Amino acid sequence: MSDIFTQLQENLGSGVKTAEPLAGYTNFKIGGPAKYFFVAQSTKELIKVIQVVDELKLPFIVLGGGTNVLVADAGFQGMVVIVKNNHLLISGTKVMAEAGVNLGYLVQKTIDQGLTGFEPLVAVPGTVGGAVYGNAGLPQTPRGFIGEWVKKVDVCRGDKLVRLSKEECNFGYRDSFFKHNNDIILSATFVLEKGNKEQSQELIKKYAEARKNQPYNMPSPGCIFTNFKITEAEEVKAKFKNEKNLDEFIARGQVPASWLIDKAGLKSKTIGGAQVSEKHANYIVNIGGAKAEDVVMLISFIKQQVRDKFGIQLQEEVRYIGF
Ligand SMILES: Cc1cc2nc3c(=O)[nH]c(=O)nc-3n(C[C@H](O)[C@H](O)[C@H](O)COP(=O)(O)OP(=O)(O)OC[C@H]3O[C@@H](n4cnc5c(N)ncnc54)[C@H](O)[C@@H]3O)c2cc1C
Repeated sequence: MSDIFTQLQENLGSGVKTAEPLAGYTNFKIGGPAKYFFVAQSTKELIKVIQVVDELKLPFIVLGGGTNVLVADAGFQGMVVIVKNNHLLISGTKVMAEAGVNLGYLVQKTIDQGLTGFEPLVAVPGTVGGAVYGNAGLPQTPRGFIGEWVKKVDVCRGDKLVRLSKEECNFGYRDSFFKHNNDIILSATFVLEKGNKEQSQELIKKYAEARKNQPYNMPSPGCIFTNFKITEAEEVKAKFKNEKNLDEFIARGQVPASWLIDKAGLKSKTIGGAQVSEKHANYIVNIGGAKAEDVVMLISFIKQQVRDKFGIQLQEEVRYIGF
């Protein structure tokens, strides 16, 4: 047994594991082992593990639901911490949720309390921490992203606890301050609006319906690429002048990545066990035994094809772990 492992166990208890396969902790069902592994079941445990790995100078990464990640076949050569704390406090329109709270649970609890705002998040899997990190949500929906509702976020920055205002979180489309530094999100506080339960349930049905074209029953990390942001409308008009969706894209300010991939003729394109979904071209699904390497090759092929056909460079939304 390594010295490091012994020290981790001395500090964190017998819950620390070694060589833990990560595939089962991801929605893609792909990925090799974590050299060290720990499930933090409270904010206190999360802060403790961050302190310990910092002292031991171990590389580490936190995961929530593992619904937006691709883990390398070789796994992660450091500590992987799964955040699974589940504390939620609702007072009036104010909602405080620890990072490990399941997002679907949060949405339902706020609706039960007669609050409105989180309905567009109903079918987004994962945790509050992962959602704040990536500003999860539903495009083309009024205030459809989680960051819209944030009041403050508490983080662990090295050995310090820091509170960030909404402005400091710098939320953008699938983006936030957290994607550009190493802060670990401990909890977030939101301010919602007073709503009507029946209306919220109707909205939930509507948003769930809108996702029927997505391959929810297959292992995947959700959308692989972000939509292409239109900065030069004239350029896009010239590229896609005969397309019936052009006006819609210009109005949205985005060309959907799924549309570009579909248009490039890549639906059902398969490498090993990884396949571009037949239902929704911005999903790569694991059709059985997919390796991270298959996915990386397929992503690279899609990017090259879309670049060659449309001169557009797609950017990954999925986060790479251990590469
Ligand atoms: C079927 C399906 C549908 C989806 N639909 C949507 C959708 O409509 N809209 C949308 O936005 N997303 C969608 N996603 C993507 C995904 O669900 C979201 O990005 C989700 O918010 C990720 O949360 P998670 O807890 O699973 O994060 P993980 O996948 O565990 O982690 C994602 C990233 O967040 C970081 N992270 C996680 N927790 C913390 C923390 N506490 N502190 C700091 N960093 C942290 C991780 O290090 C990693 O880099 C979908 C995914 C699937 C599989």
